[in-house]
Amino acid sequence: MAKQNKAFKFRLLPNKEQSALLAKTFGCVRFVYNKMLAERKETYEKFKDDKELLKKQKFPTPAKYKSEFPFLKEVDSLALANAQMNLQTAYKNFFEGNADFPKFKNRKAKQSYTTNMVNGNIKLENGHIKLPKIKKPIKMKQHREIPADYKLKSCTISRTKSGKYYVSVLTEYEKDIQPKTIENVIGLDFAMAELYVSSENEKANYPRYYRVMSEKLAKAQRILSRRKKGSARWNKQRLVVAKLHEKVANQRMNFLHHKSKELASNFDAVVIEDLNMKGMSQALHFGKSVHDNGWGMFTTFLAYKLKEQGKQLVKIDKWFPSTKKCSCCGKEKEMPLSERVYKCSCGFVLDRDHNSAINIKNEGLRLFALS
Ligand SMILES: [Zn+2]
Repeated sequence: MAKQNKAFKFRLLPNKEQSALLAKTFGCVRFVYNKMLAERKETYEKFKDDKELLKKQKFPTPAKYKSEFPFLKEVDSLALANAQMNLQTAYKNFFEGNADFPKFKNRKAKQSYTTNMVNGNIKLENGHIKLPKIKKPIKMKQHREIPADYKLKSCTISRTKSGKYYVSVLTEYEKDIQPKTIENVIGLDFAMAELYVSSENEKANYPRYYRVMSEKLAKAQRILSRRKKGSARWNKQRLVVAKLHEKVANQRMNFLHHKSKELASNFDAVVIEDLNMKGMSQALHFGKSVHDNGWGMFTTFLAYKLKEQGKQLVKIDKWFPSTKKCSCCGKEKEMPLSERVYKCSCGFVLDRDHNSAINIKNEGLRLFALS
């Protein structure tokens, strides 16, 4: 039996009083995070020349601020403890050379906090959720049931820029997963305009409604940029942009869920290239569009949907020459970005991305044969 995690996200509909309490919690979490970060920064500056001594310095905890700032006692202490955990992780990533020094959170930062299930302090019943320190249960749009044998672990409450509230409920359950025999395999080549081109020559085009909404969003953003910052008209337009932005993000996420689910049900293994998206967007100057393409989110969904069924996501080396290789005879040649069709001296002719996807699939099959 293997432990699995699953998150369920629901819309929250807090009343005025509850919204005020949530806002207070978001604020306190940010406040404590910044306080601890300031202290940590000071410690770091003081001891940075002696790594051993630096390691011995205790990490600040939220408890020490409670006497000086009694308002911290009024909010969920688990939320504050999680702020400490987040900061510790961010600092550890920096210390190990995997990230920049953690940054202070300003008012514009994402408003959210996480609380944990301890002794039944969180309850979901009758379309409401009971959260620590908030007396009355908050109304919730629960569009699906959480199975009875799923154990509730934690909840993350967030508020979007357009003012919508959500709760993401993280659960844990036991599942007996039998590894599947690998028979049906597909290779995917990451594509910029579409999401991918598969070895079966399927192009995962974003649906039309998504493209229409994206254009609407771009237009709304242009209008916003022409308005005077801080004016009433600017504020009104800012809300329009925030709402459209959330809609587009949701549509993209639904599409990525849908596509990954389809692949995970039809194939036993999916082969992809191990791309470093951050490096790639910098190197190719595509900027935002690579991130917007959602490839990272898509592969995350794909990985867990396959794993749930005892199936596999195979990542092949990013240096594998998927575009240069002829998928028919194996010869390699240079392929400038402008060449959309692969033409080999052996007579083989195929769409560039389709050829890459077949190479990726074959490389995956080769790795399976080795293992
Ligand atoms: Zn060839």
